[in-house]
Amino acid sequence: MHNAIPQFQDISQLHTGFGIAYIDTSGKILSANTAFTRLLHTQPVQPGHSIFEYVQHIRSVDVMHWQHTLTCPQAGTLEIAIPEDKSMIRLQWTALNQDHRLIIAESLPSDHTLLIQRNADKTENHESQPTLGHRQQLHQILADWETDQSENRSLAVILIGLSQFKKINETLGYDTGDQVLKLAGQRIARVSRTDDFVTALDGDKFIVLQTNQTQPASVVTLAKRLLELLQRPFLINGRQVNTNACVGMAILHQGTDEAKNLIQHAEWALAEAKKQAPGSHCIFEPGLEQRALEQHNLEVGLRRALLLQEFQLFYQPQIDMHNRKIVGCEALLRWQKSGKDWISPAQFIPLAESMGEIHTIGKWVLQTACHDAARWPANIRVAINVSPLQFEDGSLIHHIQRALHMSGLDPQRLELEITEGLLIRNIEKTLEQLWHIQNMGVTIAMDDFGTGFSSLNYLNSFPFSKIKIDQSFIRSLQTEKSRALVQAILSLGQALNMDTLAEGVETEEQLDYLAHNGCNAVQGYLISKPVPVEKILELF
Ligand code: C2E
Ligand code: CA
Ligand code: CA
Repeated sequence: MHNAIPQFQDISQLHTGFGIAYIDTSGKILSANTAFTRLLHTQPVQPGHSIFEYVQHIRSVDVMHWQHTLTCPQAGTLEIAIPEDKSMIRLQWTALNQDHRLIIAESLPSDHTLLIQRNADKTENHESQPTLGHRQQLHQILADWETDQSENRSLAVILIGLSQFKKINETLGYDTGDQVLKLAGQRIARVSRTDDFVTALDGDKFIVLQTNQTQPASVVTLAKRLLELLQRPFLINGRQVNTNACVGMAILHQGTDEAKNLIQHAEWALAEAKKQAPGSHCIFEPGLEQRALEQHNLEVGLRRALLLQEFQLFYQPQIDMHNRKIVGCEALLRWQKSGKDWISPAQFIPLAESMGEIHTIGKWVLQTACHDAARWPANIRVAINVSPLQFEDGSLIHHIQRALHMSGLDPQRLELEITEGLLIRNIEKTLEQLWHIQNMGVTIAMDDFGTGFSSLNYLNSFPFSKIKIDQSFIRSLQTEKSRALVQAILSLGQALNMDTLAEGVETEEQLDYLAHNGCNAVQGYLISKPVPVEKILELF
């Protein structure tokens, strides 16, 4: 039903902070709201006319690119400067079916506008002079330094890690990821001194070596400059891509330590910087080894946690907005390490993913949640979080079937929560699995909606049953911007025939607002925190 097309109801009176328009692939407007006209600074948009009539005042090559893309089934994003008031707007379009497109226009904050303009002024292609050195040279420089006999020698390493890189690959594709690496490398080479040595390391890292400079002053100055530069967005194929970086540094003075350890030290410093905020830098000091060791212990502990039965599932109720009754529970994983500390899933799930442990853990979560839910009243469903990695080895369907079979749980009572990151990796294989799962009667919800790079693009790739509005929007619901966003998501849910659930509801005001704006269900501390399985039975 979902891929069948929403009737193009008249949306001209839909008041949201977003501009919304339905068009066909020739560009003919079927319906548009007034915010769309306002954002584009054009005369009132008339159904039946071509959208391109209304964007002629925007003299930009990107519009031509857009004109071309609009006829393709791929979703896309474009950011354009409106000449009238120098504002920037973001247009996102997504295919509703073969013939129809949904366009969302939103204005971008002014600091964002400045950044893009600054960037657009010197188009990326002009950045391309400096080049990177070869990796083999790196080891030669370290070896030469060891044997050098001159006075007052110093050697310093700056290790740069791009923070958003994995996410860029996942949501914008590997081609864009490669472009980002190339352009980032050029930026790094451009600001380094001519006698610095710069090269790319594996994955998303770069290294700069400085010999015989005044340290740490020299590395710190360069690190700050690099961090400032790398947080400026890249323009790739008319699309803005945001990155960020962290820097780890290590310095050697004559006779202090061996050069071969230097890169390892910088790695530890980088790991430490990453634990702080994006854009942080850190210089190696002896205590960092200890912290790296703790990380190692955590990994070993995680490998054994299932065996030692250290995991538990907590459940958080989800209530229906109409009758305020519990209609489902989200299963949330808890880890009590060695009978002592409780470790947050936000910390150990990414670790389990990087270690490959997520498969066994995910299987356990499925079996346990189905087993527990089978003992609940038949009208209460269970939602579980599934990591994108669980779709990669193709065994997920089998595990779901098995968990349902062993527990006797009706498939209609199981829901999988997935994030948009899933949909970019191997999209065809993933969609095939999602269809299969849906045909089994299990429903699929899109989690953390609105937080990724291009959530709108993915809404139509698959018939989700539910959109879970991310808690960051609910937390800031007192701001006009969040209210506009939430309203837009709710009307989108209606237009696309998907249920909406708001997460992180903590106050009566938030609940009232959501009730008045047609949200179908809510979840949050106001109703209940996640509780152990014994406790949840008392709540029913
Ligand atoms: P999520 O799926 O977005 O889960 C919602 C998180 O918000 C949970 O954090 C929940 O305890 C918290 N929360 C719920 N209501 C409120 C509220 O009113 N206020 C506030 N401030 N927070 C609220 P938790 O349990 O720490 O889980 C964090 C994340 O870890 C989850 O985010 C999910 O992405 C991941 N996760 C948890 N369990 C699993 C699992 O079994 N498998 C996988 N792959 N990921 C899991
Ligand atoms: Ca979730
Ligand atoms: Ca969520």
